[in-house]
Parts: sequence; structure tokens; C-alpha cells
Amino acid sequence: MVTRVFVASTAMFLLAALAAGPTAAQRQWGQDRSIEQVSDSVYRWGSDGQYGAYILTSEGIVVIDGHYCPSGTMDWLKSQLAERHDVPVKFLVLSHDHQDHVCNSQVFDDTAVTVGHRNIRPHIVREQRNSSVPDVTFENEMDLHLGGVKVTLLYVGPSHSDNLIHVHVPDEGVLISIDIARDGLFPDLRDMDVHGMLRGLRTLSRLDNVDIVLPGHGPRLLGQDNFMRMHDFLQALHDRVLDHMIAGRTLPEIRDLVTMDDFRDLGGIDASLDPNIVTMYDFLYRYREPNNRLTEFEAVSCIEDSSACRTAD
Ligand SMILES: [Zn+2]
Repeated sequence: MVTRVFVASTAMFLLAALAAGPTAAQRQWGQDRSIEQVSDSVYRWGSDGQYGAYILTSEGIVVIDGHYCPSGTMDWLKSQLAERHDVPVKFLVLSHDHQDHVCNSQVFDDTAVTVGHRNIRPHIVREQRNSSVPDVTFENEMDLHLGGVKVTLLYVGPSHSDNLIHVHVPDEGVLISIDIARDGLFPDLRDMDVHGMLRGLRTLSRLDNVDIVLPGHGPRLLGQDNFMRMHDFLQALHDRVLDHMIAGRTLPEIRDLVTMDDFRDLGGIDASLDPNIVTMYDFLYRYREPNNRLTEFEAVSCIEDSSACRTAD
């Protein structure tokens, strides 16, 4: 029995590897590396559709984020900074713990103090991220003053992860908003506190001194209006899924019924709406208590198959 399971799972693994192999082999990383100046002190760097930033001052550099593990872009960035500028990297700021934004950031450990939100450390340590580990953490807000440039690190509560922070250079009107500002939908809502996210998006939309918003994904620079558009999408998705749940509908029914055609200006509706609905359902399942209270046994069945949790009378 054990052998058969092993053989079956090995065969599935091989099939999956064969299916994934050519795609993985075809991906050429780091072909489009770039550095772009966006204000007096702020530069945007990246490759493969993903971007970090750095802030150049007369006394040193603040680097924001790592990059995809296989891209090789962090080693490239380190050599570019040494070539272009004659000041060291003094601070490395990690926007949040997700591997694609911290990987290989330890290349700056030789000169930089690493800074992040206080919740970031347990995630980096637990998941054994390939990352620098913050030396200094903070709770709500912290200012760095370097070479006459003020950099404000801002936590607006749990949102996309419980440790995501924004990097604001108020005197230059630049806000670096990794994985919150975006051109289109999130792939799904895992690791998101949806209610915290909605509050955070409202806060960010009202923040003073923001002319340019730098997202972590996609080449386009964004404006502050991006925050309320994403807010309105998430609020509408939240309300539509919740209404169906209160009416006692099951997850398969809700996946068929919820459309978001009024948000087609946001990219990714066709590719990502379904996982957005499913993970919103998951969030709201844990948020609400139906009138027909589920027993513990029913709750387990309901998580496994939502047809077991029709709750409307
Ligand atoms: Zn992320």
C-alpha cells in the first residue's frame, strides 16, 4: 500500500515536472534589468516585471527590497550602485516578508542596517527566506534621515501580509507602495486581512505629499487615485460574496454568480477573478457567524465542501 502510494505520487510528480519543465527552462531571467530616476533622490530598479527602489543621498543609499530568487538582479544592482555612486548602501528596507520581495537582499549585509516592520522577523525566520533579517524593527512609523533626505517608513495596519510597510519621501512627493499599489487584481487574497486592507487603502488615498506612486509589479508608475480604485473593487467583491453567503449560497454557486465587469479597467479580471472570489469567501467564512449556527462537525464538512454549509432558512 505504502509502495503503491509512493509510486503513484512519484508518477504524478514526474508528470508535473515534465509539464512544468519546458516552461521553467524557457524562462530567461534578468534580460530587461533597468534603473530609472523618478525624482531628485529616488530611483526605481528592477527586471522581469518586478521593481524595487533606492534613495540616493550625499551620505549613503537606502535600498528598498530584494528580488525574485533566480533573477540575479540583486548582484547586478549591487555592482551598478558601486559603479554609479561613491557612497555606500547604509540602509536596506524590506517592504514585507514575501520571498519575491526579499530574496538575495543579504548582498547588502556588509554595509547596510536592515529595517522592517516588527512582524516581519518571525515570517523570515520561520519560512527560512533567502533574505537579510532586519536588525531594526518598528511598530507604526519610523523616519530615516540620511544626507538631508527624510524617508518615512509607514505601517497602515495588516493588509497584504501583517508586515507590509510603505516608503515615503514626502519632500519629493514619492510613495513606494510595493504590492498594494498595482495595475490590476491581486492573483488571490491569501495572506490578506481584507478589512485592514480596505482601511489602509483609504489612509493611503488621503496621505499628503504624494505625486508619484511606485508599485512593486508592472512597469507603469501610478497615481494616488489607484488606491481608491482598488479599494472600491475589493469592497464590491466583499459585499457581493457576503450577500450570497447570507442568502445561503454555496461557494460553487457564488463562483458562477459573482461578476466584476464594472471593474474591467483593472487588469487581470479574466485570469484572477475566480481565485479572488474563492479567497474572499475563505476570509468571510472566518469573519461571520451565520444565524443557523454550524456545529463543530458541520464546520469541518463545510470547509471541505461548502454544500454542507447552506445556512439560509
Ligand atoms: Zn507580496
